[in-house]
Amino acid sequence: MKKYLASFNRYVRCGAFCAIVAAGGLPSLSMAGPGHAHGKADMELSLQGASLSGVFKTPMDSLLGFEHAPKTDNQKRSVEQLKTRLSDPTRFFQPTEAAQCTAQSVDFQSALFTGKVSGGHSDLEYRFVFTCANPAALKGLDAVVFGQYPRLHELRVELVTDKGQRSVTLRKRNRVLSLP
Ligand SMILES: [Zn+2]
Repeated sequence: MKKYLASFNRYVRCGAFCAIVAAGGLPSLSMAGPGHAHGKADMELSLQGASLSGVFKTPMDSLLGFEHAPKTDNQKRSVEQLKTRLSDPTRFFQPTEAAQCTAQSVDFQSALFTGKVSGGHSDLEYRFVFTCANPAALKGLDAVVFGQYPRLHELRVELVTDKGQRSVTLRKRNRVLSLP
C-alpha cells in the first residue's frame, strides 16, 4: 500500500507540472511521444545481478481503448482496474517462478491519470523493479500483459544484461522473453 501511495503522490506532482506545461507549452513526458503507435509498446529492461528493472511505455489506447480522461462509469472502472494492476508488476510481467523474484518498487505516470490530456493522445510510462532471491534460475519473463489487454499486440524490448544488449519483439503468441 505504501508503494501505491508513493505512486499516487507522483500523479499529484505531475498534475501541477502538467498544468504548467499546458500553459507554457514546454516539452513533457505527459505529451504523446514520437513513437506513439496504438497497439504497440516499448520496454527497456535491465538485468544486473539479482535486480530486474523495466521501463514500459505504451499509448493508453493499447490498454484502455481510449486516451482522454475517463468520462463514463465504465471508463472510470477501467482506469481504477489498470492502476490496481500496475501496483503489482506480476500482472504485467512474470519472471521464472523458481527465481523467486519479488516486486521492489513501481512507479506509473500518465497524463490520462491527471485529467490533463493534451492533443487527444496519452501514454503510460511504467517503471518496475524485481529483486530475485535465486537469479541463477531466471530463464524468462512472461509478458502476461498481452493476456490482460487484447488491444496490445507488439512489445519491443531492449534488453541490457552484463552479457550485452539485444532487441527482441514479443507478440501475443510469442510473449516470453528468454533471459539473460
Ligand atoms: Zn493515441
